[in-house]
Amino acid sequence: MSRILVKGGRVVDPVVGVDDTLDLIIDDGKIGEVSRSIEADDVETAVEADGLIVAPGLVDIHVHLREPGSEDAETIESGARAAAHGGVTTVAAMPNTDPPIDSASWVEFVATRPAAVSVHPIAAITMGRRGKQLTEMSELRDAGAVAFSDDGCSVLDAGLMRRALDYARMVGLPVISHCEDPTLAGSGTANESYSSTRAGLTPVPAAAEEVMVARDIILARTTGARLHVAHVSTAGSVELVRRAKADGVPVTCETCPHYFSLTDEEVLSYDSSVRVNPPLRSAADVRAVRAGLADGTIDAVASDHAPHTHEDKEVEFDAAPPGMIGLETLLPVTLTHLVLEKVLDLNRAITLLTAGPAGVLGLAAGTLSPGANADVCIIDPTATRTIEPSWFVSKSRNSPWIGRELQGFAVTTIRRGEIVSAEYDRAGGDAGADTEDRARRRGKLAVHA
Ligand SMILES: [Zn+2]
Repeated sequence: MSRILVKGGRVVDPVVGVDDTLDLIIDDGKIGEVSRSIEADDVETAVEADGLIVAPGLVDIHVHLREPGSEDAETIESGARAAAHGGVTTVAAMPNTDPPIDSASWVEFVATRPAAVSVHPIAAITMGRRGKQLTEMSELRDAGAVAFSDDGCSVLDAGLMRRALDYARMVGLPVISHCEDPTLAGSGTANESYSSTRAGLTPVPAAAEEVMVARDIILARTTGARLHVAHVSTAGSVELVRRAKADGVPVTCETCPHYFSLTDEEVLSYDSSVRVNPPLRSAADVRAVRAGLADGTIDAVASDHAPHTHEDKEVEFDAAPPGMIGLETLLPVTLTHLVLEKVLDLNRAITLLTAGPAGVLGLAAGTLSPGANADVCIIDPTATRTIEPSWFVSKSRNSPWIGRELQGFAVTTIRRGEIVSAEYDRAGGDAGADTEDRARRRGKLAVHA
């Protein structure tokens, strides 16, 4: 395995408490020395990172890779390449595939597919995700599952959810709850608001999410099990988690980029790429989610990468399947809408994309400390780009960011000491127009013989 020297970047690692212009050496797939001006002539590859940010590889704990069952929308291989393109080196894949990941053999299938990044399977809570019978949680853990979730649905039966939390505690893994009461959500597709009324879309109230967040927090307190609330989207949910944490309940939560950057007014476009579940919420909810990110109530930003084929999404809004792709825009949306808008400083934003999510699932990732796996995300904070469909590596294109400008992109992604994505070698976009200096600043590699 090759030695890589990353020179002169702004190394940001909130775990170690480093934010300084430093060199970093990667040896045998691990982080080696991190210090000022490393002189090494025996490296195969040098990455000039002057003007760039050198961060831990990003960790995205909520992605849908669609394999098995919907390989026309995404595969584990294509999703992992999209992750690498977005600076993400570790993902946790949701089990709502076809068939669902509810057996040890399917967990092993997901864990062992060839992929450019680390893929950790999340196993289902209930057999077939039907909400009736618990899965064999200890077998699933032994096969490699890192958490349990019926994401896409809530476990509606509170007694069953209590037992799920009890067993998950015994096997030492968290339960990730998709909080949505179907009796309140009904067939709703847009946040219950002036926008849903004006657009004539079926409304779903904030209460559909908050009722389940409250129930699951109570069950986490009862059982002592670790609860992780997926894609928090409302002010009420943020406040429920904030109070639960203050009370010592073992709860963590995540939000997604679209819940701190877009509001429910987007549905007035009838663009099916903004049809997500939970739906985009009000401006007040967006402000509350931002406050929760800043004060530590929210532990992680996760993409909820949900690829759908063009054919599946090219239907009227109410009929479109929920979800948008997000692995490749996770970083630029976070940098553009949280850091540039001064909601968070860069260190807090990096934490929410690395050590925060790694901690939620207990993954050995999210730091550049010597000896750690050499997962590195090199970021050009000044790069701006109007997103075009051809820029995506994912097999799907259902993104509301197409046609919008974002700033701050991953330019080189290193996973376990191997360069798995580098912007300089991708055709198209504005890469061809790069001056030599620009190319160098974007992380162009100098390869020594
Ligand atoms: Zn969900």
